[in-house]
Amino acid sequence: AKAAGRNQLCFFDPVTQAALAERAVLEADLRVALRNTQFELHLQAQVTHLGALTGAEVLLRWRHPVRGWVSPAQFIPLAEQTGLIVPLGEWVLQQACFQLALWAEQPRMAGLTLAVNVSAHQFRQKGFLETVQNLLSRSGAPAHRLKLELTESALVDDVEAVIALMGELKQLGVKLSLDDFGTGYSSLAYLKRLPLKQLKIDQSFVRDLLNEPNARAIAHAILQLGESLGLQVIAEGVETEAQRSLLVEMGCLAFQGYLFSPPLPLADFIQLTRDWPSR
Ligand code: C2E
Ligand code: CA
Ligand code: CA
Ligand code: CA
Repeated sequence: AKAAGRNQLCFFDPVTQAALAERAVLEADLRVALRNTQFELHLQAQVTHLGALTGAEVLLRWRHPVRGWVSPAQFIPLAEQTGLIVPLGEWVLQQACFQLALWAEQPRMAGLTLAVNVSAHQFRQKGFLETVQNLLSRSGAPAHRLKLELTESALVDDVEAVIALMGELKQLGVKLSLDDFGTGYSSLAYLKRLPLKQLKIDQSFVRDLLNEPNARAIAHAILQLGESLGLQVIAEGVETEAQRSLLVEMGCLAFQGYLFSPPLPLADFIQLTRDWPSR
């Protein structure tokens, strides 16, 4: 009787019911959004310690006809659970590749890289390599200007297969970055075998840099690890000059965050590159 009671309690839980209904509505909307292209790429500048602009991270935005802007924090997890992340992620990659191809023709833009987030589900999907290959050749984008940001969750499954796939992407010229680094659980021995170009210090460590010794110790350790493995390290979520200068002191050479620029609509990012002081 006790178990049945518990089940009933669970079944009639109004919060759960409401959440499920909300989820179902959002999922249906997401399918429509994909068909009708209600998505837009926003770009956030990436800069060097000297202030030079090196490129941007692509951050997806959903302009919902009723709700207005929906944050990727809300719809990316749902897209992952439903598998919609595969066509959605492919659309993002396609847009990024065609942008890179356009930029290649423009002296001021040609040197910039675009970093695209690739979710674990998308990365492990059969045919991911072919998709990237096709998009690069169809668009004519220079592969070495494309960076893929992976999270540790993309890399846990079948270690050998993952390393092989990453090796093939590297062969194409594509750069690989490990996002949210320090929040997952890669073993260091494993990390050494991955053909990565870059580690990205998670913004949680940057946020707490000045007031939590642990966050500072972790950021410092990641920078040292990067140096000993020959990997670039970029700090994300940099909001203050104090954070930037402390990171520079610790040897960080690449940055991203509101201190430099928020994520911008494409046209605004292009304007930003025009106004950016060359140093
Ligand atoms: P992420 O890849 O870790 O991206 C960094 C997030 O931090 C972005 O949130 C960005 O707008 C935000 N951010 C940038 N600078 C600052 C700063 O100085 N301070 C603070 N507090 N935050 C900053 P956003 O755009 O809401 O994206 C959230 C997450 O959604 C991303 O986290 C990424 O995991 C995912 N995402 C976004 N676009 C895509 C996409 O095209 N594909 C996939 N698979 N995931 C995406
Ligand atoms: Ca990212
Ligand atoms: Ca991140
Ligand atoms: Ca994150």
